[in-house]
Amino acid sequence: MDLGIAGKWALVCAASKGLGKGCAQALVAEGVNVVITARGADALQATAKELRATNRSVQVVAVVGDITTPEGRAAALAACPQVDILVNNAGGPPPGDFRQWDRDTWLAALDANMLTPIELIKAVVDGMAERGFGRVVNITSAAVKAPIDILGLSNGARSGLTGFVAGVARQPQLAGRNVTINALLPGPFDTDRLRGTAAGTAAKTGRSVEELLDERRKLNPTRRFGNATEFGACCAFLCSQHAGYITGQNVLMDGGAFPGTF
Ligand code: NAP
Repeated sequence: MDLGIAGKWALVCAASKGLGKGCAQALVAEGVNVVITARGADALQATAKELRATNRSVQVVAVVGDITTPEGRAAALAACPQVDILVNNAGGPPPGDFRQWDRDTWLAALDANMLTPIELIKAVVDGMAERGFGRVVNITSAAVKAPIDILGLSNGARSGLTGFVAGVARQPQLAGRNVTINALLPGPFDTDRLRGTAAGTAAKTGRSVEELLDERRKLNPTRRFGNATEFGACCAFLCSQHAGYITGQNVLMDGGAFPGTF
């Protein structure tokens, strides 16, 4: 299927690794020019090089910076001639017990996983509406649908974003101008983040990382973790010309782990 988005420009945040990189790869394969961001320059430049090698006809611009800061967002937006597609992503907040979290801990989580995507949405959607095409995909988490005890910062901040998007995505001045805003909710995907969390648990419990990962795989109906390629493919479809009638939705990609009928 031709997704009909070749030649568009996408800003893919937090995309040197993992799920953001998977989204950038899928968009580049469709002929979309991308601006990718991350804080670490080396991994970001390596990803940019990889993306350029997969499709010589697109432009790939790498912007080093922290997307959760005003400066990081300004630099990312300035590097993109026009944002037709916005993939909102940033690192997830740390796990822990809410009894230990002070106001600053909460503000950091809200900045990263709620206010940053809202600021970027604010910066781009009216231009998208004027041009009659726009796609926003927020990478959130399955924790929005089924909260994870130790990820209270994620449960809270991402639910705030989800509630905000549910309203704004339905504004006729956006939806009626072919601008859609959806979220992709990853369950367990095989990325550095997932392995890092397992390494943390291994250090605390004395169990091996592989044992913990195996145990987690077995809990999933598919008996595996998702991979960034399939995540990116789903993101690219939501960004396609064909997905204009899908907006304000929360698309769960968790291998069927959520046990509900709907
Ligand atoms: P990952 O493999 O650790 O990759 C994170 C990427 O984001 C890296 O490129 C990282 O590069 C970049 N990044 C992190 N913080 C950033 C910031 N402040 N500004 C710019 N770039 C930043 O993580 P992932 O697994 O792809 O996860 C992506 C998001 O999905 C996270 O919010 C995570 O919590 C969420 N999620 C993941 C899973 C899963 O199973 N993987 C499940 C549910 C939710 P730098 O570190 O160099 O900046």
